[in-house]
Amino acid sequence: MKLFDALQSGRVIVSDGAMGTMLQMRGLPVGELPELWNLTHPDDVRAVHSAYVEAGANLICTNTFGGARIHLQRAGQADRLVEINQRAVEIARDACAERAMVVCSIGPLGEMLEPYGDISEEDAAAQFSEQAQALCAASPDAILLETFYDIAELRVAATAVAGAGLPVMASMTFTQHGRTITGATPQAAAETAGELGFVAFGANCGTGPEHVIRVIEAMAATDHPPLLAQPNAGLPQTQSDGTLVYTQNPQVFAEYAPKFREAGCAIIGGCCGSTPDHIRSVRTALEQAAHPLLQA
Ligand SMILES: [Zn+2]
Repeated sequence: MKLFDALQSGRVIVSDGAMGTMLQMRGLPVGELPELWNLTHPDDVRAVHSAYVEAGANLICTNTFGGARIHLQRAGQADRLVEINQRAVEIARDACAERAMVVCSIGPLGEMLEPYGDISEEDAAAQFSEQAQALCAASPDAILLETFYDIAELRVAATAVAGAGLPVMASMTFTQHGRTITGATPQAAAETAGELGFVAFGANCGTGPEHVIRVIEAMAATDHPPLLAQPNAGLPQTQSDGTLVYTQNPQVFAEYAPKFREAGCAIIGGCCGSTPDHIRSVRTALEQAAHPLLQA
C-alpha cells in the first residue's frame, strides 16, 4: 500500500521507533555517525529494521537522519554521500520485503541559518536537495523531514526536497515547555505545515509522550495536515559519561498511543530510546482501545 492510500484509509499507521539508540545497543560508539553503518555494518541496520517490521510497523525510516553533506563532512566521509544514502534505502527496502513502506529520514543541518548562524539559505537548500536526490535514486515511498526546530529551516528543506516528486512528511521537536528551541509554537508550526503541503505533520523526539501529547493537542486545534507523533521513550537521563538513557518502558509509553489517536494522529511511532517492544505495545494498546489499524 502506498502512503496516500494508507492516509486515506482512516486507519492508524504505525511507524517504527529509534534507530540510533538501537545501533548503540549493537556497539555503535557514541559520537560515531550511525549513517556510516549503512556501509560498514549493513546487517545490523537491516536487523533493526526487520525487528520493527516484525513488531508491526507500517513505516520504516531509513538510517539517513544525518546523511547531509555537512554531517558527513565532519566525519571525513562526504565523498561517500550518494553511496551512504542509497544503500540505506536498499537496506530498508530489503528488510521491509513489501510489508512496510520505506520513508527517508532527513534531519536538520545542526546549524542555524543566516543571520543567526553561518549557513546561507542557498547552501542549506543545496544540502537538502543533494541528500534527497541521492535517496530518491533508490525509489523510497516518502520523505520525512524530522526533528526540525526552526520553521525557517523547515521551509527551506521542504522547498528543496519537493523536486524529488515524493510525498513529504515533517515533524518538529518541542521542549517540555511546549515550544521548539527557537521559540516556535505547535500552532505556528502546524499552520506553516499546511502551507508547505506536507502530507502529514507532527512532533517527534524531544521529551516523552506525556509532553508530546500536549503539542499534538495544540496542533489539532489548528488547520493542519494529518498529524504524526513519534516521541522519545521518556525524558532522557544524562549518565556520568555524558550519554543519554531513556527509561520509559513499553507499556507506559504505549498508554499514550490511544490518546494520540484520539487527539487526531494518523501516524504513531517512537523516537530515541524506543525499541521494537515499544512499537509492538503501541499496536496492542491501539487494538485494545478498538482503534482500526493499518494491517501489518
Ligand atoms: Zn529522537
